Amino acid sequence: MDAALRTSTKLISKGQHVSAVERLVTWRDTLAEQEAASGAEMFMGLPDKWYEPPTFACENGHISKRYLKSETSGDVCLACGKRVYLVPRITEEELAKVLAK
Ligand SMILES: [Zn+2]
Repeated sequence: MDAALRTSTKLISKGQHVSAVERLVTWRDTLAEQEAASGAEMFMGLPDKWYEPPTFACENGHISKRYLKSETSGDVCLACGKRVYLVPRITEEELAKVLAK
């Protein structure tokens, strides 16, 4: 878990305002931890199967198989330019529920 993810977990446990990106990362990390606990093969902290093929999601609810590699912002959404995260296969409707919690 990197520093940004630790920060988001801390914010949530304190009951402070939780942004959409924090909900997205927390949801993703919780599923990844469950996969690891059940013995799934992992790569870079995420289940191997999430990479085959990879699905990327951003805080604005966009899902894509592709993203833009930006020199300044890292991996960003093709639709809105926000950072993307590797997530399990999910529909935009399911992702909207994750982001709306
Ligand atoms: Zn987006």
